[in-house]
Amino acid sequence: MYTTLSDSPPIVLVFAGHDPTGGAGLTADTQALAQCGCHIAPIVTCVTAQNTHNVKALYPLPKAQIMAQAQYILEDMPIKVVKLGLLGSIEAVEAIAEILISWPDLPVIFDPVLAAGGGENLSSKQLISKIKKELFPLTTLLTPNRKEAENLTGEKNLEMIAKQLTDSGCEYVCVTDVKPMNRKVINILYTAPQQEIGGWHWSRLPYQYHGSGCTFAANLAGFIACGYPIIEAVYQAQRYTWFSLRQGFIAGQGQRLPNRITHCSSVKRVDAFIERDEN
Ligand code: PLP
Repeated sequence: MYTTLSDSPPIVLVFAGHDPTGGAGLTADTQALAQCGCHIAPIVTCVTAQNTHNVKALYPLPKAQIMAQAQYILEDMPIKVVKLGLLGSIEAVEAIAEILISWPDLPVIFDPVLAAGGGENLSSKQLISKIKKELFPLTTLLTPNRKEAENLTGEKNLEMIAKQLTDSGCEYVCVTDVKPMNRKVINILYTAPQQEIGGWHWSRLPYQYHGSGCTFAANLAGFIACGYPIIEAVYQAQRYTWFSLRQGFIAGQGQRLPNRITHCSSVKRVDAFIERDEN
């Protein structure tokens, strides 16, 4: 039981969208953060209409509503880390930039969601240029997949991508790439000046998943909020994400959803406890 503020779990302030499938967005972040012992303060940037096939509509919240949600929380809770997911509008970028400038010492983990897994575009040229100009200089660690990294930079070469993203102000960049030929998923961690400081590869699982990027970035934000060094947090979050995907399940008729809960040791401990009690 938590009795004092200093006993309480680390709190991560998340700006992201709501996804009614429960696979991505704030629900994914809530689960992935809980698994490393963190509490989420969820700030809604937009609401979506979607299913496991694709996103049908995106309804952004006005800047004033996004700012008010965050300000009120920041005045009250000791936030350890900020995580950014789907922003969905230029107003959201402006709101978040203003908030982060007013609370300048918070580490920012940014998953730059530009498209839905089903292919629907969730960004525009103007939104991308606003993100680069206003949010990258405030970003501690950016977690794009290869496609997002190419769209953000207009580059194809990973070294050039890393250079441009770190030159734009991101302190660290972790790019997730898929190598279909050898069935591997690769993560490479860079810091300025375009220096590779970590690389990991995982066997590629056979299905399409919705919410894998959110799972990775949120769990990573949680490990950083718990005090893990960046490289260790990046490794732990990949591991958590890979097991969540391996245990992924069929919820609808499209992409599978990660199982972010039942593969975890904490849940197994609860199961063991119930079994023991029943016997
Ligand atoms: N956040 C929301 C609210 C979404 O709707 C989506 C995709 O549809 C994402 C994030 C990104 O999902 P993924 O982690 O699969 O890239």
